[in-house]
Amino acid sequence: MSKGSLFVISGPSGTGKGTVCAKLLAEDNIFLSISATTRDMRVGEAEGVTYYYTTTEKFEKMIENGEMLEYAVYGGNYYGTPKKAVTDMLDSGKNVILEIEPQGALKVKAQMPEAILIFVVPPSIAELRKRLTERGREDDAEIERRINAAKWEFSQSPKYNYVIVNDDLDTCVKDTLSIIKSANDRQQMIEKLLSEI
Ligand code: 5GP
Repeated sequence: MSKGSLFVISGPSGTGKGTVCAKLLAEDNIFLSISATTRDMRVGEAEGVTYYYTTTEKFEKMIENGEMLEYAVYGGNYYGTPKKAVTDMLDSGKNVILEIEPQGALKVKAQMPEAILIFVVPPSIAELRKRLTERGREDDAEIERRINAAKWEFSQSPKYNYVIVNDDLDTCVKDTLSIIKSANDRQQMIEKLLSEI
């Protein structure tokens, strides 16, 4: 059985990476890693489904014990990817998706260079501002802070394997699926060739 591949889907806040990931999960053999966070649970979220909600003390203990593949502080809260769940899924041949912010994405690439990094961008900054405003979670000052943070995030795009534009959602999902398929085909081909030596 082939080992699964790891895909990191990242990008500035408001690009719609969460919506893209939700659509990908409808496909066979694509699984999402559930992150741990110290932020409060929002309406409509559930423990172990959207996140594992935990305390700062417990999160810092997990960091200390080396249980995190990566973590970042975002908006004053910790967010991190528990390592064991990801490696277990990869070992059992699953495609694993991490939906995380850009600092964490680069930390994953440093630890697991074979990870495939996909940077999701909006079609324009006006559209990014519109999406952040329409979802109504952040006030105007926070929206401008996030758009400003996107400057540094865009500058990191050469470190990603792919940049995809989330203009039309279905096209963006289709583009992402073809990246996943080509990574799987490549992995299978290499394993086949290795088995023949
Ligand atoms: P939210 O609070 O809106 O659910 O997430 C805030 C940000 O944290 C989003 O950009 C999301 O992608 C990111 N995020 C979620 N889980 C993780 C994680 O495990 N690690 C990192 N580095 N970022 C995460």
